[in-house]
Amino acid sequence: MADEIERMYIDGEWVAAQGDATFDVINPADQSVVASVANGGVPEIHRAVDAAQAAFREWSLLAPKDRGRILLAIQALMEERRDELARLVTLENGKPFEEAKKEVQFSLGYFGWFAEEARRHGGEWVASPQPGKRYLVLHQPIGPVAAVTPWNFPATMVTRKIAPALAAGCSVVLKPASATPLTALAIAKITQDAGLPRGVFNVLTTKRSRLVGDELLTHPLIRKIGFTGSTDVGKGIMEKAAQQIKRLSFELGGNAPFIVFDDADLPAAVEGAAAMKFLRVGGQSCICANRIYVQRTIAGRFVPAFIEAVKRLKVAPGFEPGAQIGPLINEETRAKVHSLVEDAVKRGARLVTGGYYLTDGAYKNGNFYAPAVLLDVTDDMPIAVEEIFGPAAPVLLFDTEEEVIRRANATTYGLAAYFYTKNTARLMRVAEQLEYGLVGANDATGYTHEIPFGGFKESGLGREGGHEGIEEYTEVKSVVINLG
Ligand code: NAP
Ligand code: MG
Repeated sequence: MADEIERMYIDGEWVAAQGDATFDVINPADQSVVASVANGGVPEIHRAVDAAQAAFREWSLLAPKDRGRILLAIQALMEERRDELARLVTLENGKPFEEAKKEVQFSLGYFGWFAEEARRHGGEWVASPQPGKRYLVLHQPIGPVAAVTPWNFPATMVTRKIAPALAAGCSVVLKPASATPLTALAIAKITQDAGLPRGVFNVLTTKRSRLVGDELLTHPLIRKIGFTGSTDVGKGIMEKAAQQIKRLSFELGGNAPFIVFDDADLPAAVEGAAAMKFLRVGGQSCICANRIYVQRTIAGRFVPAFIEAVKRLKVAPGFEPGAQIGPLINEETRAKVHSLVEDAVKRGARLVTGGYYLTDGAYKNGNFYAPAVLLDVTDDMPIAVEEIFGPAAPVLLFDTEEEVIRRANATTYGLAAYFYTKNTARLMRVAEQLEYGLVGANDATGYTHEIPFGGFKESGLGREGGHEGIEEYTEVKSVVINLG
């Protein structure tokens, strides 16, 4: 399987990197080499940007309905090849195959949503304050876009950016995570088979991310950057983008509070907490629960049930039937999770289940970790301050609503928050006061295509999905018409 080189997709062609440079994609379940992929450099970056620039005009002038027709064809082909794509997701990312299928099924929905949005995305005819003048507001495609995506959702992170960009009439150069380029390349093949014109969508695979920052993201022809990844890398990109006042959309890190009030539906809260902490890529998602706040009066009932639920979770290689938690993406990530757990214990937290490397049998060569629950955690411990990005659940206690809202908001992040209560007035109060872009009230399923998704504070800039998603890829122009 590893003998063949996966080429990148530039200007409608499958190209190798200069000097046939490659890098390996590693299966995190067993460290085997899944594929060798072209390791792009400066010539490929320039070629991809030139292709996107050349293709932009014609694509942007197509009727939105005709662009939409191609997006719908992409959606249909993705659905046809769903299991094939999911297989790649599991191979390169490690998440359970069942979860990968759900991811791909969800990811393709962005093409349908934005195909429809494109047709309703006109502009405005504004009532004129003067009889002899008319005013038009146009929303026009911004130009060639550079998209950079992470490894945790190899399909969704790609479609959530390229579907709205293409729908708006933009061309795209995508730089997928070097850990998970295969899903992105398979999506590129689908766009080719669906008839997307050459150059409109390009996939530049590379492990030289610094070069991407210096040559792609600062390229003067790139008019917009869509980035999903860590807050630190996002800040670096923003600094460089300042030189050209480049338009930016950022989906960055999170530190989600998950609050259980004493008037919650307890079984639902237990299930929701386990799901939002452990069942999205084993905790490696930006919207995963990071701090579980439990009202002291209900802790005696919630905590034992939660621990039992976590003990029942099945950690296994992604293709094993019944697998719920796969390996972590790499050893570095596993080591970071483990160091946060060990540090919390050193500071007085109690580890009540999991919290160690799984190394025997089927776990032997993979980055598996036993799902951990920690009690007696306090707000100042690094495990509560930092984004954990793995299968460890810190439990913290609180007494009052006012107190927990203050503590929940006391972070530089602001992506997602969850809380459980059966009291409707409290539900409204808490939902309104949480400083987060996504709030789940008695719900731990996350977002959907139809609503905007994005972060407050250092968790992001702009929104993906919803009506807002397509706006990120347009400029607004006011046309003043003098009738004389
Ligand atoms: P990351 O290190 O920031 O990488 C994200 C992407 O940026 C990858 O394609 C990476 O390439 C590239 N990159 C790294 N350094 C770069 C640089 N200096 N210039 C340009 N590009 C660069 O993030 P990650 O470790 O892959 O993903 C985890 C983070 O993403 C977490 O913080 C998580 O919260 C965040 N995330 C946020 C959302 C959201 O919607 N808000 C969704 C998913 C993930 P390489 O792959 O080659 O390193
Ligand atoms: Mg990284």
